[in-house]
Order: sequence, then structure tokens, then C-alpha cells
Amino acid sequence: MKLCPNFKTLEPSYLFADIAHKVSAYQAAHPDAPVIRLGIGDVTLPLAPTVVDALRKAAAEQGVKETFHGYGDEQGYGFLQSAIVDYYAQRGVTLAQNEVFISDGAKSDLGNILDIFSKDNTVLIPDPVYPVYVDTNRMDGRQILFADANEGNGFLPLPDPAVHADIIYLCSPNNPTGAAYDRAGLQAWVDYALEHHAVILYDAAYECFITDPALPRSIFELEGAKRCAIEFCSFSKMAGFTGTRCGWTAVPEALAGGEPRKMWLRRQTTKFNGVPYIVQRGAEAAFTDQGQREIHEALAYYQKNAAVLADTLTSLGIWYTGGKNSPYLWLKCPNGMESWAFFDFLLEKANLVGTPGAGFGKNGRNFFRLTAFGDQAKTAEAAERLKALLG
Ligand SMILES: *Cc1c(COP(=O)(O)O)cnc(C)c1O
Repeated sequence: MKLCPNFKTLEPSYLFADIAHKVSAYQAAHPDAPVIRLGIGDVTLPLAPTVVDALRKAAAEQGVKETFHGYGDEQGYGFLQSAIVDYYAQRGVTLAQNEVFISDGAKSDLGNILDIFSKDNTVLIPDPVYPVYVDTNRMDGRQILFADANEGNGFLPLPDPAVHADIIYLCSPNNPTGAAYDRAGLQAWVDYALEHHAVILYDAAYECFITDPALPRSIFELEGAKRCAIEFCSFSKMAGFTGTRCGWTAVPEALAGGEPRKMWLRRQTTKFNGVPYIVQRGAEAAFTDQGQREIHEALAYYQKNAAVLADTLTSLGIWYTGGKNSPYLWLKCPNGMESWAFFDFLLEKANLVGTPGAGFGKNGRNFFRLTAFGDQAKTAEAAERLKALLG
């Protein structure tokens, strides 16, 4: 047998391993150091009580012959698809139930969707970026072009009419930069995609953090987007499902004459057998009025952390993106420092841990990611330490 040679083209992914190694080495040398982690890219608050009740109830149903569920409906249960359709309708986006596919999360779908696209497409990916887009395309051997996100464009690159791409990745609000496209910016990408007969793979995993009503929460809010985009979303950041696993992908019938929707259905029914009934009931409960109230309390907790960190950076005169409409803050390292040097400096001088921007692409070399997913008291303490160190 021969192994897939494309795996040799992947860059080693040492970012979080290197961070963990540096932090544990520091703690071994300074056992009493009160280290605070602002590098967490995972939620920390528990599931909403309404979701837990629904999970329990569904688990009990699975133990009774009359209410037991075996293999589920192919694209997910209608009750959850229809709750998602209603969620979109709140923003004026009309989707049909058969355009919504329930999955075990956005990350798997973002990788798996490539099964329906030819390997000879050219892919356009912003830099810096969530590493999944690059790695899944390298595994398939596709040609990748990068769109520079930088201080000049506020880490929100716009299309270059001179560059041709077939598959475009956009993530807004962005991980790692926290930057979110406004309507004009996103419309420019939709117009470009329509002109180039390209598809936009739109990662909306952080849409629930958008509070500014002027910002789009779904790409389908934009004129023409249903003819050129597929949207990926998740209960992970919205409802704390990172360990429970549920997401969805919306493939509009209007995209390329409906062929991609049919192919995705075929792909999923061939290689995927659905999300547990119990989990889909939990996800459904997240959309009830009570579920939404509880979820918004948790989101408000993180948003307060983001605001505390944003105010701190503003008062220090440090350039950053995010902090509003996002759980991430992406700051320019002071004094032209490189991101790993700033990592060491923060760890040693203030016992704070963040994520070096270099780990997300070459344009992250002088930038640094902080997250709002931590404990509120610890985040406030971290803000004080930043002021003391950098003020
Ligand atoms: C967390 C995250 C997701 C969600 O992934 P799941 O597989 O649904 O947990 C998707 N995209 C980005 C950019 C993320 O940071």
C-alpha cells in the first residue's frame, strides 16, 4: 500500500503543544506563580439547565420501547431543522428544511464538504486563519492562495479582482482576529464569488457574539449569497456544545442549480450516520425561549470579559481588533515585539498566558490573541496585570 503523500505537505501543528510545554516549564520553576490563562479557545461555562433537562428527558426516552429511536432521519430530525429554519427567519433569511443538514459540528463539515469539490479548484484563504481550512485542503492536494489580513485592512481583507479563486473561506466574526465583516465588506465577497463562479465557505461559528445590529450574522442576509455560498454554524460557542457536539450546514438549492445540495446529501448519507437523538433534543432546547434566555446569560458573561479586556487595551493605547461582537481580541504586540517573544514576556512578567499570532499564519507574527472564555474574576485580575505591566 501507499500512504497519501499530501500529508507530507502539512506544517507540523505545534502551537498549543508548545504553549502547554512553555507554561508547564514555567510553573515547574515557579510553583506558586498565579498563572492566568487567556489563551483558551474553548467555552468554560456549563450547558444551560433547559438543555440539560432536554438531554435527560431524551436519554430516558431511549430506555423505553415506545419512545426509543434508532437510526435518525438522514439530514437530522425535522424538529431541529425547523428550529434552525426559524432561527434564520428571525433575521429575514428564508431557508427550506431540506437545505439544512444537522451534523456533529462545524469543524467536521468544513473538512468533509471538500469531498464534493474537485481537487483542481484554486482555494483562497485569509492569513491569519483557523488552521482547519488550510490543512484539509493540503490533505487533498489543492492549490492554496492567501488573502493578506493585516493592520491596514483591519484584518478584514477584501477581494482582489485580479486574483481568481474557485473556493473562498471566510470566517466572521473571525477566529483568531475577532474582526467581523460589515454588510458592504461581505457583499463585496459575494459579488466577487458570483462573478468568478466561485463558492464561499462561510464559517459563522461566532455569529451569536454579534451584538451590533448593523453587522450581518448570516451570509444569506446578503443579496445573491444563496447562489454562491454554503454556511457552517455550530452549537459549540453558542450553547457550550464543544463537548456535546452538534452543528449544521446550510447548502442552498439556489447554489449551482441545486447540484451541491444533492451531492452533500449523498456524501453525508454515505459517510455519516447522524447526530444522536439525545443531542439533537438538547440542541432543540437551546432555541426555546427559556433556552435562549439562559444561553444569552452565558454569552453576556463572556461578552463582559471581552469588554474588560478591550477597555484595558484601549486605555493602554494598544492597537487591536475584536473584543466587540466576538470572544477574541487580537492585539499588536507592543514595541514591535514578535508574538513568541511577547508570549514569554507576558508569562514571565505578569504570569499571563495568551496565544502567539504566529501560530495562525505569517501575518500573525507581531500579533497576539486573548480570549474572553475565562473566569470573570481572573479576567479582571489579568486586566489589572496588563495595565501594571504595559501602562
Ligand atoms: C470553535 C470553532 C468552530 C466550531 O467547531 P465545532 O466543530 O462545531 O465545535 C468552527 N470554526 C471556528 C473558526 C471555530 O473557532
